[in-house]
Amino acid sequence: MRIQCPNCSRLLNAPDSLAGRTVKCPGCGSQMQVPAVEPAPAISVLPAEGDRKVCPSCHETILEAAVKCRHCGHRLDAGPRLSGRQGAAILSDYRRGMGTLGRLLVALDLLFLLAGKVRALALDPRGEP
Ligand SMILES: [Zn+2]
Ligand SMILES: [Zn+2]
Repeated sequence: MRIQCPNCSRLLNAPDSLAGRTVKCPGCGSQMQVPAVEPAPAISVLPAEGDRKVCPSCHETILEAAVKCRHCGHRLDAGPRLSGRQGAAILSDYRRGMGTLGRLLVALDLLFLLAGKVRALALDPRGEP
């Protein structure tokens, strides 16, 4: 690794085996510390678990902060928020195969959600372009 003498600013080529040790500058004779080799910090590109939600339109998992579904382009920045848990619950209820009435209620639920979303979009001047 390359280090610089703090005294004479001379650039020195120090072998990695000297990391963390004190060496003597060949130029001015002053002592300096060779920085220890630090492992590159592991940068996680994945957000923490729980920062996800389910797209109410295509049911793909997307980022909680997302304003637009990257799978179907569904806009999520207006109208009532359907959290991932709620969406998953509705979906699993639906999949469990409830009776016709239950299925109807779920459908109505979704219709109300959609209607609320449309209304919110119409009332929000910053909504749809
Ligand atoms: Zn020096
Ligand atoms: Zn989607």
